[in-house]
Amino acid sequence: MDQKPLLKVEGLKKYFPIKKGLLGKTVGHVKAVDDISFYVNKGETLGIVGESGCGKSTTGRVLMRLLEPTEGTVEFDGKELTSLSTNEMRKMRRDIQMVFQDPYASLNPRHTIGKILEEPLLVHGISDAKERRKSVIKFLEIVGLSAFHAKRYPHQFSGGQRQRIGIARALMTNPKLIIADEPVSALDVSIQAQVLNLMQDLQKEFDLTYIFIAHDLGVVRHISDRVGVMYLGKMVELAPSEQLYANPLHPYTKALLSAVPVPDPDFVKEQVMIDGDIPSPANPPSGCTFHTRCPFKMDICTKVSPKLTEHENGQSVACHLYSEQADTDIEMKEKEMEGSL
Ligand code: SF4
Repeated sequence: MDQKPLLKVEGLKKYFPIKKGLLGKTVGHVKAVDDISFYVNKGETLGIVGESGCGKSTTGRVLMRLLEPTEGTVEFDGKELTSLSTNEMRKMRRDIQMVFQDPYASLNPRHTIGKILEEPLLVHGISDAKERRKSVIKFLEIVGLSAFHAKRYPHQFSGGQRQRIGIARALMTNPKLIIADEPVSALDVSIQAQVLNLMQDLQKEFDLTYIFIAHDLGVVRHISDRVGVMYLGKMVELAPSEQLYANPLHPYTKALLSAVPVPDPDFVKEQVMIDGDIPSPANPPSGCTFHTRCPFKMDICTKVSPKLTEHENGQSVACHLYSEQADTDIEMKEKEMEGSL
């Protein structure tokens, strides 16, 4: 694997204004994505995981510039995407494609599959109709469908087949990066495995780089080289996949993993339970935004926001349990307690 980052994201923020009153005055912001940084190497898969509302899907849309970022930089293949004009960005989308959660909603029900698959080629100026049709058949077959499916309409397919069509559409322009937003969440478990296997095969065949967004750590486990865990718009842990599953550091990652079944009955994993719902990103808690649900909360957690810092061997975590600052805080607390005895 070529270890050159294909995508480098620095300090990315996406705030949505909250407007009130007749004049639409801005009274606050929903911090959907709040200062995240990461990279994706060429040929690798980065999984991004978190509960609904954590900002993972907004991140995907901001990277594609389907939503404009509030702040931050996105470097893709040596080019800064945030400064490209609309026209330049449209051309760039040939190299970055998206696969959506609900393939039915993203496929025009009035168009045949052939027309749907031809569309990205037309947008990117491939005007030869014969060439377009050849590509449609080629990619239908690549994703496990047949040439005759080109004449059918989206409602004539099962959920799994529709997701195959969604993947074929993403491949039509020969992209370098595919951002897959919960691509298997709406599918039955048995079909999920087929679609994941297909995506892995296609990655090898077409030298693709993936960002794979999911709400379930179990789903991204086998497909991801590294996994980032998001909570309330922030990246709280980012680590090589095996390391994250074998030794999660952040209490939120531990809680998410506690909910994932383990096939080995002899394997005893640490169980971390969390209560309550994810707080509103319009009014996130102070300090560490996870402190309202964290069973390990310390005094410092309510005051200081922990930074994502490397802990060991490429495993980064944003938690005071692993920072020197917290050690000092705990020592001071212990001294205080000793003094009061
Ligand atoms: Fe829990 Fe504190 Fe770590 Fe946040 S910083 S996850 S509240 S221990």
